[in-house]
Amino acid sequence: MKRERDFLIKSYLKRLRLPTILSNYQKAATECADAGKDYYDYLLSLTEQEVIHREEAGIKNKISKAKFPVIKDFDTFNFSLLSNVKKEKILHLSNGEYIEKKENVIFIGPPGVGKTHMAISLGISACRAGKKVCFFTVAGLVNQFIEASTEHTLTKLKNRLAKSDLVILDELGYVPFSQNGANLLFQFCSQRYETGSLIITTNLEFGNWVSVFGEEKLTAALLDRLTHRCHIFQLQGESYRFRESKKRKKK
Ligand code: ADP
Ligand code: MG
Repeated sequence: MKRERDFLIKSYLKRLRLPTILSNYQKAATECADAGKDYYDYLLSLTEQEVIHREEAGIKNKISKAKFPVIKDFDTFNFSLLSNVKKEKILHLSNGEYIEKKENVIFIGPPGVGKTHMAISLGISACRAGKKVCFFTVAGLVNQFIEASTEHTLTKLKNRLAKSDLVILDELGYVPFSQNGANLLFQFCSQRYETGSLIITTNLEFGNWVSVFGEEKLTAALLDRLTHRCHIFQLQGESYRFRESKKRKKK
Protein backbone atom coordinates (compact mmCIF):
# COMPACT_ATOMS: atom_id res chain seq x y z
CA MET A 1 0.00 0.00 0.00
CA LYS A 2 2.71 2.46 1.10
CA ARG A 3 4.90 1.44 -1.82
CA GLU A 4 2.05 1.92 -4.26
CA ARG A 5 1.34 5.36 -2.83
CA ASP A 6 4.97 6.39 -3.10
CA PHE A 7 5.09 5.14 -6.65
CA LEU A 8 2.07 7.29 -7.55
CA ILE A 9 3.40 10.39 -5.76
CA LYS A 10 6.72 10.06 -7.56
CA SER A 11 5.15 9.60 -10.95
CA TYR A 12 2.79 12.59 -10.46
CA LEU A 13 5.64 14.82 -9.27
CA LYS A 14 7.62 13.81 -12.34
CA ARG A 15 4.70 14.54 -14.65
CA LEU A 16 4.20 17.91 -12.96
CA ARG A 17 7.95 18.60 -13.28
CA LEU A 18 8.54 19.28 -9.58
CA PRO A 19 12.01 17.75 -9.15
CA THR A 20 12.87 19.51 -5.88
CA ILE A 21 9.67 18.33 -4.19
CA LEU A 22 10.31 14.87 -5.62
CA SER A 23 13.73 14.60 -4.02
CA ASN A 24 12.72 16.24 -0.72
CA TYR A 25 9.17 15.18 0.11
CA GLN A 26 9.98 12.06 2.11
CA LYS A 27 12.71 13.65 4.23
CA ALA A 28 10.53 16.74 4.80
CA ALA A 29 7.61 14.53 5.92
CA THR A 30 9.75 12.94 8.65
CA GLU A 31 11.19 16.31 9.69
CA CYS A 32 7.78 17.99 9.89
CA ALA A 33 6.32 15.06 11.86
CA ASP A 34 9.24 15.14 14.32
CA ALA A 35 8.86 18.90 14.78
CA GLY A 36 5.10 18.63 15.26
CA LYS A 37 4.33 20.71 12.18
CA ASP A 38 1.05 20.44 10.32
CA TYR A 39 0.13 19.75 6.69
CA TYR A 40 0.23 23.44 5.80
CA ASP A 41 3.82 23.80 7.08
CA TYR A 42 4.77 20.71 5.12
CA LEU A 43 3.24 21.99 1.89
CA LEU A 44 4.71 25.45 2.42
CA SER A 45 8.22 24.13 3.00
CA LEU A 46 8.11 21.90 -0.10
CA THR A 47 6.65 24.50 -2.46
CA GLU A 48 9.09 27.10 -1.15
CA GLN A 49 12.05 24.84 -1.85
CA GLU A 50 10.80 24.19 -5.40
CA VAL A 51 10.34 27.92 -6.09
CA ILE A 52 13.78 28.84 -4.73
CA HIS A 53 15.46 26.08 -6.69
CA ARG A 54 13.65 27.01 -9.89
CA GLU A 55 14.52 30.69 -9.56
CA GLU A 56 18.19 29.91 -8.91
CA ALA A 57 18.31 27.60 -11.92
CA GLY A 58 16.65 30.30 -14.05
CA ILE A 59 19.28 32.87 -13.08
CA LYS A 60 22.12 30.40 -13.73
CA ASN A 61 20.64 29.64 -17.13
CA LYS A 62 20.34 33.35 -17.98
CA ILE A 63 23.97 33.98 -16.94
CA SER A 64 25.18 31.06 -19.03
CA LYS A 65 23.14 32.14 -22.07
CA ALA A 66 24.52 35.70 -21.83
CA LYS A 67 27.97 34.31 -22.72
CA PHE A 68 30.01 36.59 -20.46
CA PRO A 69 33.76 36.13 -21.09
CA VAL A 70 34.31 35.87 -17.31
CA ILE A 71 32.07 36.25 -14.28
CA LYS A 72 32.82 39.51 -12.44
CA ASP A 73 30.64 41.07 -9.81
CA PHE A 74 30.61 44.43 -8.07
CA ASP A 75 31.73 42.80 -4.80
CA THR A 76 35.28 42.51 -6.20
CA PHE A 77 35.30 46.01 -7.68
CA ASN A 78 37.21 48.74 -5.86
CA PHE A 79 35.26 51.94 -6.54
CA SER A 80 37.71 54.11 -4.63
CA LEU A 81 40.12 53.80 -7.57
CA LEU A 82 37.67 55.69 -9.79
CA SER A 83 38.24 59.34 -9.03
CA ASN A 84 35.45 60.90 -11.08
CA VAL A 85 32.64 58.34 -10.88
CA LYS A 86 30.20 57.95 -8.00
CA LYS A 87 29.86 54.40 -6.69
CA GLU A 88 26.19 55.02 -5.81
CA LYS A 89 25.38 56.08 -9.37
CA ILE A 90 26.74 52.85 -10.81
CA LEU A 91 25.28 50.61 -8.12
CA HIS A 92 21.93 52.31 -8.59
CA LEU A 93 21.92 50.97 -12.15
CA SER A 94 22.00 47.43 -10.73
CA ASN A 95 18.31 47.76 -9.93
CA GLY A 96 17.64 47.48 -13.67
CA GLU A 97 15.36 50.51 -13.93
CA TYR A 98 17.31 51.71 -16.97
CA ILE A 99 16.44 48.45 -18.73
CA GLU A 100 12.74 48.96 -18.07
CA LYS A 101 13.08 52.44 -19.55
CA LYS A 102 15.13 51.12 -22.52
CA GLU A 103 17.99 53.44 -21.64
CA ASN A 104 21.66 52.90 -22.49
CA VAL A 105 24.88 52.96 -20.50
CA ILE A 106 28.23 53.99 -21.98
CA PHE A 107 31.58 53.55 -20.24
CA ILE A 108 34.33 55.65 -21.85
CA GLY A 109 37.94 55.45 -20.70
CA PRO A 110 41.50 54.25 -21.21
CA PRO A 111 42.41 50.53 -20.99
CA GLY A 112 42.35 48.76 -17.64
CA VAL A 113 40.08 51.11 -15.68
CA GLY A 114 37.32 48.53 -15.21
CA LYS A 115 34.92 49.22 -18.09
CA THR A 116 34.43 45.56 -18.99
CA HIS A 117 34.29 44.53 -15.31
CA MET A 118 31.45 46.98 -14.63
CA ALA A 119 29.60 46.07 -17.85
CA ILE A 120 29.70 42.37 -16.88
CA SER A 121 28.60 43.14 -13.30
CA LEU A 122 25.63 45.13 -14.58
CA GLY A 123 24.86 42.26 -16.96
CA ILE A 124 24.85 39.78 -14.08
CA SER A 125 22.61 42.05 -11.99
CA ALA A 126 20.22 42.14 -14.95
CA CYS A 127 20.21 38.32 -15.18
CA ARG A 128 19.40 38.17 -11.46
CA ALA A 129 16.48 40.51 -12.10
CA GLY A 130 15.20 38.00 -14.68
CA LYS A 131 16.31 39.92 -17.78
CA LYS A 132 17.66 38.35 -20.95
CA VAL A 133 21.21 39.52 -21.59
CA CYS A 134 23.72 39.02 -24.46
CA PHE A 135 27.40 39.91 -24.25
CA PHE A 136 29.53 40.56 -27.36
CA THR A 137 32.74 42.29 -28.20
CA VAL A 138 31.91 44.81 -30.92
CA ALA A 139 34.29 43.04 -33.32
CA GLY A 140 32.67 39.68 -32.47
CA LEU A 141 29.16 40.97 -33.13
CA VAL A 142 30.16 42.63 -36.40
CA ASN A 143 31.77 39.34 -37.51
CA GLN A 144 28.58 37.48 -36.60
CA PHE A 145 26.53 39.99 -38.61
CA ILE A 146 28.78 39.58 -41.65
CA GLU A 147 28.78 35.79 -41.38
CA ALA A 148 25.01 35.71 -40.88
CA SER A 149 24.40 37.92 -43.90
CA THR A 150 26.42 35.60 -46.16
CA GLU A 151 24.68 32.55 -44.68
CA HIS A 152 21.22 34.16 -44.93
CA THR A 153 20.65 33.84 -41.18
CA LEU A 154 20.71 37.57 -40.43
CA THR A 155 17.01 37.64 -39.52
CA LYS A 156 17.52 34.84 -37.02
CA LEU A 157 20.41 36.67 -35.36
CA LYS A 158 18.49 39.95 -35.31
CA ASN A 159 15.47 38.24 -33.75
CA ARG A 160 17.67 36.77 -31.02
CA LEU A 161 19.08 40.21 -30.28
CA ALA A 162 15.66 41.83 -30.37
CA LYS A 163 14.47 39.37 -27.70
CA SER A 164 17.31 40.41 -25.37
CA ASP A 165 16.46 43.04 -22.78
CA LEU A 166 20.10 44.10 -22.58
CA VAL A 167 22.88 43.77 -25.16
CA ILE A 168 26.43 44.52 -24.00
CA LEU A 169 28.88 45.68 -26.68
CA ASP A 170 32.41 45.59 -25.35
CA GLU A 171 35.45 47.37 -26.79
CA LEU A 172 34.10 49.74 -29.39
CA GLY A 173 37.02 51.36 -31.14
CA TYR A 174 39.75 48.78 -30.61
CA VAL A 175 39.33 47.21 -34.03
CA PRO A 176 38.20 49.26 -37.05
CA PHE A 177 35.82 47.47 -39.40
CA SER A 178 34.79 47.55 -43.05
CA GLN A 179 32.07 49.93 -44.28
CA ASN A 180 29.72 46.96 -44.54
CA GLY A 181 30.48 46.07 -40.92
CA ALA A 182 29.99 49.68 -39.84
CA ASN A 183 26.62 49.82 -41.64
CA LEU A 184 25.42 46.59 -40.03
CA LEU A 185 26.40 47.84 -36.58
CA PHE A 186 24.75 51.19 -37.27
CA GLN A 187 21.52 49.45 -38.32
CA PHE A 188 21.54 47.33 -35.20
CA CYS A 189 22.16 50.26 -32.82
CA SER A 190 19.47 52.32 -34.56
CA GLN A 191 16.92 49.53 -34.30
CA ARG A 192 17.68 49.20 -30.63
CA TYR A 193 16.82 52.85 -30.04
CA GLU A 194 13.93 52.96 -27.55
CA THR A 195 13.26 49.23 -28.04
CA GLY A 196 15.99 47.77 -25.82
CA SER A 197 19.00 48.72 -23.72
CA LEU A 198 22.65 48.70 -24.71
CA ILE A 199 25.78 48.90 -22.60
CA ILE A 200 28.78 50.04 -24.63
CA THR A 201 32.38 50.18 -23.45
CA THR A 202 34.89 52.17 -25.46
CA ASN A 203 38.28 53.84 -25.33
CA LEU A 204 37.09 56.49 -27.77
CA GLU A 205 35.74 59.93 -26.91
CA PHE A 206 32.54 60.61 -28.88
CA GLY A 207 34.46 62.97 -31.18
CA ASN A 208 36.56 60.05 -32.39
CA TRP A 209 33.76 57.58 -33.12
CA VAL A 210 33.87 58.61 -36.76
CA SER A 211 37.16 56.70 -37.02
CA VAL A 212 35.19 53.49 -36.35
CA PHE A 213 32.08 54.20 -38.39
CA GLY A 214 33.86 55.89 -41.27
CA GLU A 215 31.16 58.37 -42.19
CA GLU A 216 30.55 61.69 -40.48
CA LYS A 217 26.75 61.78 -40.98
CA LEU A 218 26.19 58.17 -40.01
CA THR A 219 28.24 58.65 -36.83
CA ALA A 220 26.32 61.79 -35.90
CA ALA A 221 22.98 60.03 -36.42
CA LEU A 222 24.11 57.07 -34.35
CA LEU A 223 25.42 59.19 -31.48
CA ASP A 224 22.20 61.16 -31.49
CA ARG A 225 20.17 57.98 -30.93
CA LEU A 226 22.57 56.28 -28.52
CA THR A 227 23.06 59.23 -26.21
CA HIS A 228 19.44 60.41 -26.11
CA ARG A 229 18.52 58.25 -23.13
CA CYS A 230 21.86 57.34 -21.75
CA HIS A 231 23.96 57.09 -18.58
CA ILE A 232 27.46 58.13 -19.60
CA PHE A 233 30.47 57.41 -17.39
CA GLN A 234 33.78 58.99 -18.28
CA LEU A 235 36.45 57.01 -16.43
CA GLN A 236 39.93 58.22 -15.68
CA GLY A 237 42.92 56.77 -13.97
CA GLU A 238 45.72 54.33 -14.17
CA SER A 239 45.23 50.83 -15.53
CA TYR A 240 44.32 48.42 -12.72
CA ARG A 241 46.51 45.73 -14.28
CA PHE A 242 49.44 48.14 -14.47
CA ARG A 243 48.91 49.24 -10.87
CA GLU A 244 48.85 45.60 -9.69
CA SER A 245 52.01 44.65 -11.58
CA LYS A 246 53.82 47.70 -10.12
CA LYS A 247 52.76 46.56 -6.63
CA ARG A 248 54.08 43.05 -7.27
CA LYS A 249 57.43 44.39 -8.50
CA LYS A 250 57.80 46.57 -5.38
CA LYS A 251 57.29 43.50 -3.17
P1 ADP B 1 38.86 47.84 -19.26
O1 ADP B 1 37.71 47.10 -19.83
O2 ADP B 1 38.55 49.23 -18.82
O3 ADP B 1 40.07 47.76 -20.14
P2 ADP B 1 38.79 45.70 -17.31
O4 ADP B 1 37.42 45.82 -16.79
O5 ADP B 1 39.05 44.60 -18.29
O6 ADP B 1 39.29 47.09 -17.92
O7 ADP B 1 39.80 45.57 -16.08
C1 ADP B 1 41.07 44.96 -16.20
C2 ADP B 1 41.30 44.04 -15.02
O8 ADP B 1 41.41 44.81 -13.85
C3 ADP B 1 40.14 43.09 -14.79
O9 ADP B 1 40.64 41.89 -14.29
C4 ADP B 1 39.29 43.81 -13.74
O10 ADP B 1 38.57 42.89 -12.96
C5 ADP B 1 40.34 44.53 -12.94
N1 ADP B 1 39.88 45.85 -12.44
C6 ADP B 1 39.84 47.01 -13.11
N2 ADP B 1 39.44 48.01 -12.34
C7 ADP B 1 39.20 47.47 -11.12
C8 ADP B 1 38.75 48.01 -9.88
N3 ADP B 1 38.49 49.32 -9.70
N4 ADP B 1 38.61 47.16 -8.83
C9 ADP B 1 38.90 45.83 -8.98
N5 ADP B 1 39.33 45.29 -10.12
C10 ADP B 1 39.48 46.08 -11.20
MG1 MG C 1 37.64 46.02 -21.58
